[in-house]
Amino acid sequence: MTQHFINGRHVSGRTGETMSVVAPATGEEFTRIACGSAEDVDDAVKAARAAYEGAWGRLTAAERGRLIAKLGQKVLDRFDELAQTEAQDTGKPMAQARADIEATARYFEFYGGAADKVHGHVIPFLNGYSVSVVHEPHGVTGHILPWNYPAQMFGRSLTASLAMGNAVVLKPAEEACQTALKLAVLASEVGFPDGAINIVTGRGHEAGAALSAHPGIGFMSFTGSPEVGKLVQHACAENLIPCTLELGGKSPQIVFDDADVAAAVPVVCKAIVQNTGQTCSAGSRVLVQQGIYDGFMGAVAEQFAKLRAGTPEMDLDCGPVINAKQRGRVQSFIDQARAQGIPVIAEGQIAQGVPNGGYYVTPTLFGQVPRGNRLEQEEVFGPVLAAFSFTDEEDAIRLANSTAYGLVAGVWTGNGDRQQRVAKRVRAGQVFINGYGAGGGIELPFGGTGKSGHGREKGFIALEEFAVTKTIIHRHG
Ligand code: NAP
Ligand code: MG
Repeated sequence: MTQHFINGRHVSGRTGETMSVVAPATGEEFTRIACGSAEDVDDAVKAARAAYEGAWGRLTAAERGRLIAKLGQKVLDRFDELAQTEAQDTGKPMAQARADIEATARYFEFYGGAADKVHGHVIPFLNGYSVSVVHEPHGVTGHILPWNYPAQMFGRSLTASLAMGNAVVLKPAEEACQTALKLAVLASEVGFPDGAINIVTGRGHEAGAALSAHPGIGFMSFTGSPEVGKLVQHACAENLIPCTLELGGKSPQIVFDDADVAAAVPVVCKAIVQNTGQTCSAGSRVLVQQGIYDGFMGAVAEQFAKLRAGTPEMDLDCGPVINAKQRGRVQSFIDQARAQGIPVIAEGQIAQGVPNGGYYVTPTLFGQVPRGNRLEQEEVFGPVLAAFSFTDEEDAIRLANSTAYGLVAGVWTGNGDRQQRVAKRVRAGQVFINGYGAGGGIELPFGGTGKSGHGREKGFIALEEFAVTKTIIHRHG
């Protein structure tokens, strides 16, 4: 049984209600968490405010940075334990869990180092004036996060905010909050003042809704579905506060007929099966130029057919998906596409010996998918890749930009002019040329347009999101 973490202490919820946490690999309960109420959220926001106005707020930027960097070291010291916890909680293969914890430590390293490097600037103005522009914290920031990369999301969302001097309140996903709770405890151990980091676990429509509507919050960072993102943005509108929304995508990999096929094929496969397809930036559409479509997709199919899904300990290409509902959702995409007669080019396998109760799905490659089909338009959030062919550059752009999403895109071509043209015209917050990275890239500004959301995380730019710009105009004569 785990509790909330508020004001540097573990506390049971005010209601005493708890809920089950299940290991996706087995479908069995392995712990319970506290169900946060509006009162718990209020306690957490008050603790954060007190920290912001007290011990946390008094620290210099360099001191904050040092604490964040120390937490990064602590993560590395407790690496195996954190990776095990993440794997149990999410079902992901151990190699992925380890990569995630490494990336988490990297976020602390990056934002620890960045904390004292967000400098303001001076504007030459009228004679007799001095004008400076400074970046100040929002105060208390709220964070609502999903279950796909819980530890990394903590690093990405909370750490940038802490680096800027905000105190934070997190509502992690009910399905996977164990590493976040551990990270908050480790933060206390390295010397974060009480109340700088607060976590209220529980249900989205209770604790999450209360957090996004709380008048004591100065900024909201949300990652999850577009449906809930809209609710969060509405709640923020009531309080007239800004928010960033990171809502997923239907990201295309565009492969032209002059692409380096040998380099592209494994990357195209990995971009959709990484984390069992449960990645906002998963490369879930592959668009291939007509002339090489059969050959290219043949090579992808060969690799795809070798994919295996298993338990974290089996450490295969995929794990289970997060829960029964998600498995049902992914399976319904697969079943519907089959019923519509869309060809299955290749299938992976669920490994022998996986527990019966686990939430495994068979990695599936469909092609050609008719334009306008659900597999082109909707995020599956599972190991399902949809292939399309295109005629020329114009057609490729049309197809790439045919969804309401715009998060990441990959462009594979040896033609330098085309690399730039396509990168500029494709609607996405990040474009890879002759490569693709789903997740990672801590230094690289990341975020979407349209249904993928707005605002930017990662890199230095995130620090500006978590800050308010103040212009100080001094008339001194
Ligand atoms: P979700 O429902 O949007 O959940 C994301 C977070 O929002 C969770 O912490 C959730 O709490 C919370 N939440 C739910 N309802 C809320 C409300 N009314 N007010 C405030 N917070 C609320 O996403 P999901 O159910 O986990 O996944 C559904 C779909 O979202 C997926 O199939 C996928 O397409 C997409 N998704 C995208 C990302 C991404 O990285 N962009 C990540 C995960 C999922 P609970 O823990 O109670 O749900
Ligand atoms: Mg949910």
